[in-house]
Amino acid sequence: MELIDGNKIANDIVAELKAEVGAIKGRKPCIALVRVGEDPASVSYVKKKEKSAAEIGLESRIILPPVSISQTELFALIDGLNNDPGVDGILVQSPLPKHIDEVAVFRRVSPAKDVDGFNTVNLGKVAQEDETGFVACTPAGIMEILGRSGVDLKGKHVVVLGRSLIVGKPVALLALQKKAGANGTVTICHSATSNLPGITRQADVLIAAIGRAEFVTADMVKPGVVIIDVGINRVPDPTKKTGYRLTGDVHFPTVSPLASKITPVPGGVGPMTVAMLMKNTVKAYRLQTGH
Ligand code: NDP
Repeated sequence: MELIDGNKIANDIVAELKAEVGAIKGRKPCIALVRVGEDPASVSYVKKKEKSAAEIGLESRIILPPVSISQTELFALIDGLNNDPGVDGILVQSPLPKHIDEVAVFRRVSPAKDVDGFNTVNLGKVAQEDETGFVACTPAGIMEILGRSGVDLKGKHVVVLGRSLIVGKPVALLALQKKAGANGTVTICHSATSNLPGITRQADVLIAAIGRAEFVTADMVKPGVVIIDVGINRVPDPTKKTGYRLTGDVHFPTVSPLASKITPVPGGVGPMTVAMLMKNTVKAYRLQTGH
């Protein structure tokens, strides 16, 4: 069994981007990070993104509207960033306060600056295999992990657990694309799927993104399977200082001995998300400036 090191792959991407950005003359690519309110997880995510941008040499603008901001005011703020030629990428950190329609906000971000890849236009471009689009960071990170780990999906049965717009659906579309590294035969499972273990046992590559701690057990996989565990779940654990431990959607102790390759949680898909956001920002800069 080979443990796929997501931290190492993410660090490699950051190093490549650093070299690429270092060679850019004049204005550097710029990402605007919008964080509404003080949600502790959002504070930590935005800090990580700011740190990664600085490490690569990207400019970042941190915009911190109060939790009381109205949807109209947030739209006006986004419009300002959409029209600002000094801003290449815009990220609005999720979750947003309840009084704001998150999907409407994602749609408001200009497709050309939508480095999170949640805008309708960019989701459509994934389906159309249009390379000028932005792929959402987690599915893009999964494909990058597979490619850099020497896993070619051509002719393989790829089973995706979960059909969310953020992970399941886009990663299934990417695995299905008619291009090098992809060309998988894809099955998507969800909460209404019958005989789920019967399907997962057929998987050559299993991508688990359902948000159910340790759901995939040894009897649900075939020997030699490649497993990408996207889940990030908190399980109560009184032995930890935090009172919980992080675990994936796969029961790692029993499933990993059967797998040919597997991503751990934490340290698998998670670290890729920020790296792919930075990669999308550099791409947005190049597409908009023509440099
Ligand atoms: P969602 O809750 O949006 O979607 C979960 C999907 O799993 C749904 O399609 C749901 O089916 C399906 N599902 C839930 N329970 C079952 C079940 N018992 N059997 C079969 N299918 C089931 O989650 P996300 O896609 O946003 O996230 C999935 C996991 O990935 C989470 O743990 C999340 O924390 C993690 N994640 C990690 C990221 C990272 O590493 N950077 C980024 C994003 C997410 P249905 O549609 O029928 O309801």
